Amino acid sequence: MRITGLKTWLMQVAGDGRRAKARSIAKDKPGLSRRNWLFLKIYTDEGLTGVGECSGWPSAIRTMLHDLEPVLKGEDPQHIERLWHKVKLAAMGHGHVGTPLGGALAGIDMALWDIKGKALGQPVWSLLGGKVRDRVPAYAHADHPERAQDLAERGFTLLKASSTSRGEVDVKRLFAIREAVGDKVDLCLDAKGAPWMGLQDAIALGRRLEPLRLAFYEEPLPPEAILDYPKLRQAVSTPIATGERYGFLGDFRTLFELGAVDVIQPDTGRSGGITQMRKMAALAEAFGGMIAPHSGSLGPLAEFAAVHLMAATPNCLAIERVEDDWPGREEVLTNACRAEGGSFAVPDLPGLGVDIIESEIERHPVQLSVDLPTAAATAEHAQGGSDFAWTGLLRRRAGYLG
Ligand SMILES: [Mg+2]
Repeated sequence: MRITGLKTWLMQVAGDGRRAKARSIAKDKPGLSRRNWLFLKIYTDEGLTGVGECSGWPSAIRTMLHDLEPVLKGEDPQHIERLWHKVKLAAMGHGHVGTPLGGALAGIDMALWDIKGKALGQPVWSLLGGKVRDRVPAYAHADHPERAQDLAERGFTLLKASSTSRGEVDVKRLFAIREAVGDKVDLCLDAKGAPWMGLQDAIALGRRLEPLRLAFYEEPLPPEAILDYPKLRQAVSTPIATGERYGFLGDFRTLFELGAVDVIQPDTGRSGGITQMRKMAALAEAFGGMIAPHSGSLGPLAEFAAVHLMAATPNCLAIERVEDDWPGREEVLTNACRAEGGSFAVPDLPGLGVDIIESEIERHPVQLSVDLPTAAATAEHAQGGSDFAWTGLLRRRAGYLG
């Protein structure tokens, strides 16, 4: 079997104006969204095809995929590991070692696993060593007590609150969420790697959160502050999570060797795909850590890949889930991946067990290449600031935030 080429589809999420309840759909842009989804299909001379999804900066990654097509053409798609390194080497020569390349590799890698599974008549989880579990846990976002209660009633046992659009963490609201759901639901907080958070801020906030017994404290520090993470982890008792902005295995090696992290969150659409994420999970296992894949693409196809991989991964905590997403999420693929009762059923069809519906995708042309902060949002950030964030206060006074 030989690869004959690839094709990509870039689509606008919510391009038809239908709105989801989820806060991930931009409320200030009716009909638009913060997200585009990028799908690809790899074709072979035997008629088998494989599908994948890439995230990160989809329009840039789309260019990268088409530029990389000659590296794949004529190759046997079943030698996934060899092709993964061939693509990585080709892009490294141009200086790429970060998430754009991690995104391109993720989509290519997913499609190759899909082809291999179809060729062998096996689901991808079977090729990865078989199932550790029949259902893979999911976690969803809840920033208010009512939302948390609703999700808990729907079966979610892990919920995540996030910092506000002003980059603040509303500690009182977190306590209200805990009050609403009690101790049967685990909670976590995403501080989103805010650039104004210094080590002292992260420690101060972490100590205030300790009575909540959070499952994890996510990105309390910016991604470049990697050397501060172990100091934070020593100072607070809550498990530390990070990783959505790192694209390669070596980044996670650094985190674990420094003693910086408990839960890693590589993104299924931009961390090198199943092949590399499996190694990240093994690395975490060796250090006693857990993996909770991030859904940066927030896309429906990458979610299938995450479910296959986490079905076969012992130290899986949960997969991040965009619950109550744009209704078209279920219309662009042949199968829906649903977190029913707070977990995903593991698909049994060969390969990833899903295909894209090209005609549906083409109904949602891209209007916005990538979402960037508006001037108003930047000004709002500059006005923001929590009582604990004295480092941010100093930086704002210096005038270089916002
Ligand atoms: Mg996050």
